[in-house]
Amino acid sequence: MPKEKESTSKIINETTVWENCLKLIRDNVNPQNFKTWFEPIKAVKLEQNTLTIEVPSQFVYEWLEEHYIGLLRKTIKRELGAEGRLEYSILMETSSQAEKPYTVKLPAKGNSGLKNPSVPMPQQISGGIRNPFIIPGLKKIDIDSQLISNYSFENLVEGDCNRLARSAGFAVAQKPGGTSFNPLLIYGSVGLGKTHLAHAIGIEIKNNFPNKTVLYVPSEKFMHQFVDAVKNNSQNDFVHFYQMMDVLIIDDIQFFTGKEKTQDVFFHIFNHLHQNNKQIILTCDKPPVDLQNMEQRLLSRFKWGLSADLQVPDLETRIAILRKKMYVDGIELSNEITEYIALSITNNIRELEGALVSIIAQSSLNKKPITLELAKQMIDKFVKNTVHEISIDYIQKIVCDYFELPLEVLKSKTRKREVVQARQLAMYFSKQLTKSSLSNIGMHCGGKDHATVLHACRTVNNLIDTDKKFKAQVADLQKRINLSR
Ligand code: ADP
Ligand code: MG
Repeated sequence: MPKEKESTSKIINETTVWENCLKLIRDNVNPQNFKTWFEPIKAVKLEQNTLTIEVPSQFVYEWLEEHYIGLLRKTIKRELGAEGRLEYSILMETSSQAEKPYTVKLPAKGNSGLKNPSVPMPQQISGGIRNPFIIPGLKKIDIDSQLISNYSFENLVEGDCNRLARSAGFAVAQKPGGTSFNPLLIYGSVGLGKTHLAHAIGIEIKNNFPNKTVLYVPSEKFMHQFVDAVKNNSQNDFVHFYQMMDVLIIDDIQFFTGKEKTQDVFFHIFNHLHQNNKQIILTCDKPPVDLQNMEQRLLSRFKWGLSADLQVPDLETRIAILRKKMYVDGIELSNEITEYIALSITNNIRELEGALVSIIAQSSLNKKPITLELAKQMIDKFVKNTVHEISIDYIQKIVCDYFELPLEVLKSKTRKREVVQARQLAMYFSKQLTKSSLSNIGMHCGGKDHATVLHACRTVNNLIDTDKKFKAQVADLQKRINLSR
């Protein structure tokens, strides 16, 4: 392709070069990753074959280096030629001394900057947080980490819902205190795997570094210990104990809200650990910005590291989680039953597991084999206690079964007539029967926007009015959906 000729007719500046890079990158990474890692980047300078991009944090820089250096190198080379170079400008956020952005030069070919000894590590540039006088392992007592061995990475199924948090956690476990993910704050609503992930990180650190002192503590326990310490006048011991950790994991810090004294003591422990490059891992049931009655100085410290959220798992992940659990427990259930459970319980992994356990318990109590019938009865009982809202996944499944289409096809972008109609019906029923927004429904049905969903609903309504056969199909589908509720 006559690339040069084509580009001489256009203005070449940092923005156009970066836009071209983004086009190529967009084709090579999934949309969520593109949004997370590449959209926030700004191109700031283009000088003699060197493009400077501004990344929002050291964390993003490290992540790009670790995961996308190959792609970036290729892209830069394509846009700027073999001599092309990429330079990062990182907006400082992790240290109060350094207000100005600093830059790290990275060759866009050859070794990645992080591994190149001539390029200083960002941590060193940002003002010597490391303290050479602290000798690790000194005066460590043997403490029990309080980690639950089942909550390992191995048992934590990966899905889109937890990919970022899981990878960040894994990265922390390879280099506790040595990445910019400090603190690592994992947040998400109840039953989505925060506690499991927090333990997994602790376990992995213990495997990698048996001499490191790791402690998992639920925030309530931390609070009670502190209250006792105040009573017994042993506050100093309390603080010293926690300051001795190499890795401190505190679960459910939302319980610290409104507890000023606990926050105060935690603040001091936090600072001590952080200054000494000890790893802090926190979990919370909401994003830190939504924490009411939490001191600003703590909230601002949470921003020093990475906040990663856990989301509701999709159908595929829910099935994988059930399979994993069955495998660990040595149980076998048919695909039909597994799928039924996964379709019925959609937004809490603890409940998903609970349903599986109760089906198994019921079958062994009554000495009956596990049939779909039994599963349905149990789930009905189980789900009645929680509020049962039919899910988009469920509707799609029924529509697909009805038209004998694979689910992937419905979720794909194909415009084949019969698929388009099935997809429109799935959208129509989702709008009618769930509380989901139009754009959420669109996202579930092949990444369409809200206008497409609206159009689908209108089309279906029109057809119901004009096409008898179609009307009968809709009624049939409606019956099937009702039956399985
Ligand atoms: P949270 O702390 O967010 O309320 P938990 O970590 O206690 O949630 O998780 C609830 C249950 O779901 C646990 O038994 C956990 O093992 C399981 N679980 C959560 N996420 C996964 C996953 N990705 N793979 C397998 N099991 C999971
Ligand atoms: Mg928990």
